[in-house]
Amino acid sequence: MEVKEPKCVKCGKPVRKKEQEYCTACKNPKELPYERGISLWVHKPPVSESIYRFKYHNCRLYADAYAKECARRFKGQIKKWNIQLIVPVPMYDKKRRRRGYNQAQVLAEKLGEELTIPVDSESVARVLPTTPQKLKGRQDRRKNLKDAFRMKKVLNGIENVLVVDDIYTTGATVEKVAECLKKAGAKHIWFFTISIGQDF
Ligand SMILES: [Zn+2]
Repeated sequence: MEVKEPKCVKCGKPVRKKEQEYCTACKNPKELPYERGISLWVHKPPVSESIYRFKYHNCRLYADAYAKECARRFKGQIKKWNIQLIVPVPMYDKKRRRRGYNQAQVLAEKLGEELTIPVDSESVARVLPTTPQKLKGRQDRRKNLKDAFRMKKVLNGIENVLVVDDIYTTGATVEKVAECLKKAGAKHIWFFTISIGQDF
């Protein structure tokens, strides 16, 4: 299911009523370190099953279709944002070695090809392993992710960055990565995810 109106004007999460400008998580939008987000679909079957296979069953080729769909629907939008760099949400090294790949990186690389925008998978590092986030609330997730990411270098002259991840739920991960990028000199951060949860 494509993400349709009404949706949060900040993160793009579907909201129940059209009078609602922001979702519950974005009620203080000025405090959020990113500009806006876009996602292809609502996180429900069959999309959630597709992403599961993409993540855990080595279906890396799916990235092609996701990237093409992103380009088809959002290329104009992304162009307007003047994105100079695409940065995937990094994975803890040990975890990546176990899984064999970081699905966000695979997606980012395909997207970079589609949009002809450079991809940087090295500058942000995940320096702490994080416990599975599924069971935690928003505040716990934020605490859990505090100091989980670190910049390995300064982003010379890069102002506009698109952060890429597979799923957007509470937004805690994107927020932490965006904070890191800003500390490294980026001015404006947007994000793209394959799917997004609903605010109801
Ligand atoms: Zn929102």
